[in-house]
Amino acid sequence: NQKAIATPKRTKEILNKYGFSFKKSLGQNFLIDVNILEKIMDVAGVTKEVGAIEIGPGMGALTEQLAIHANRVVAFEIDQRLIPILKETLQTYDNIEIVNQDILKADIKHVMDTYFQEQKEVKIVANLPYYITTPILMKLLMDRLPVSSITVMIQKEVADRMAAKPNTKSYGSLSIAVQYYTEARVAMNVPKTVFMPQPNVDSSVLQLDIRDKPPVEVEDESFFFDLVQACFGQRRKTLRNNLARHFSTWTKEQVEEQLNKAGIDGTRRGESLNMEEFADLANSFYSAH
Ligand code: SAM
Repeated sequence: NQKAIATPKRTKEILNKYGFSFKKSLGQNFLIDVNILEKIMDVAGVTKEVGAIEIGPGMGALTEQLAIHANRVVAFEIDQRLIPILKETLQTYDNIEIVNQDILKADIKHVMDTYFQEQKEVKIVANLPYYITTPILMKLLMDRLPVSSITVMIQKEVADRMAAKPNTKSYGSLSIAVQYYTEARVAMNVPKTVFMPQPNVDSSVLQLDIRDKPPVEVEDESFFFDLVQACFGQRRKTLRNNLARHFSTWTKEQVEEQLNKAGIDGTRRGESLNMEEFADLANSFYSAH
């Protein structure tokens, strides 16, 4: 794979040819290692049956591998300077659409309807711009896009939080939010040396398999997510205290009553509750609010 875009030599050539300078503010850390890209293809399960959505193609390092392995690729890139570069680097592939849009503002469903009409399965695969990792992933999940999985290179610390289990240091409201929609796992850790320029933080590939339906039934999703966030509000505090603060107009007795109804000990801490317990708690408080 000598001619791949994802090599230090080729990347430098493209940089020089176009006089391109990286914008740190856009999270531009490009991949220069084909082996990592091959592994990402494996983790994501990209095949010729699959349509792929990419966020932030950069110079096309990952886009190229998606074009080779998937049926069709649609890539959203915010940086206008990269559009003519991508046109050239990816000119030998006829199954790629580049959309010059901010992913946070894009109507992704509409784009999917346009390009993936006959596609049975669509997957999202990206080396994300790290300054907006969480907003992008929450948008992708909350839009409930018809995709089967999301495979993303992100900061290791954020990947750990998204995939974390109860009673661990990384477990928090982000773990619940992500795992409500997906089965999450950290597929691999990635050294800084595979990027140009190298980022300041360690990276991981996070695999999110979209669930057909959430693992718990909650009366009201935003009430549930707000309550979960409140339970982690002050990590050292007990559930009883965090909930009393969240339901500030309630008496202590009322808070205690709902804790009892849910069968949860108010002296526990948020980090010890699993998704089912949070759902019980939220549904019990919701019925009384
Ligand atoms: N995929 C390329 C690679 O792996 O070499 C580049 C990845 S780089 C980490 C992130 C890319 O996302 C950059 O090309 C950047 O311009 C783009 N980007 C940043 N913010 C964006 C946004 N809001 N919408 C779409 N693309 C964005």
